[in-house]
Amino acid sequence: MRITFDLDDVIFNMKPLNMEAFRRAGQSYRKQTSWDIDKIYDKSVCDNLIYLWSSDFLYSMPVLDLEIPHVLNKLIARPDMDVLFVTQRRLKQPQKTLEQLRNAGINCHLNQVIDQDGEKADILQELKTDMHFDDSPHVVAGCIEKSVPIVMISNNATCYNHHLRNKVEYYPNLRTALMKKGLWVPTK
Ligand SMILES: [Mg+2]
Repeated sequence: MRITFDLDDVIFNMKPLNMEAFRRAGQSYRKQTSWDIDKIYDKSVCDNLIYLWSSDFLYSMPVLDLEIPHVLNKLIARPDMDVLFVTQRRLKQPQKTLEQLRNAGINCHLNQVIDQDGEKADILQELKTDMHFDDSPHVVAGCIEKSVPIVMISNNATCYNHHLRNKVEYYPNLRTALMKKGLWVPTK
């Protein structure tokens, strides 16, 4: 079974980076309510966000849930599981992404990190994933359209994907999603 994971706002917490963009713009932090940042933030915030998304800052973001590396490591260790991390970061630096994953305690290798150009739903279709976890409304909609098995991570911080809640299976965080999909059994 092949399982694929998005990174940002699924495994890694992007809030420190987003807050830094507001700090640099001299503004108070506001939640991202739309995927189209030009519509919700002014140019200064957008410019800072885009700059930080393309900087090393991105590769220092912490995990959302300290338990997740252990949960993922158990999946990675299973001989019947093929775990891949599929991201679309601006810099396309899978080596740096690998270091971020490993620094977080996730025991993966470079061949498990996929960061390439193109539509993510197409990439996932080509990878023949059996289950993909993502928060991006664009990716989720693309997966629905192309019949790629998709589970959405949707919570109070991801207002930008709430409009898809009636179209797709969703859970508030990865730990819950993995439990509900039978991929993780809590030990206590
Ligand atoms: Mg994401």
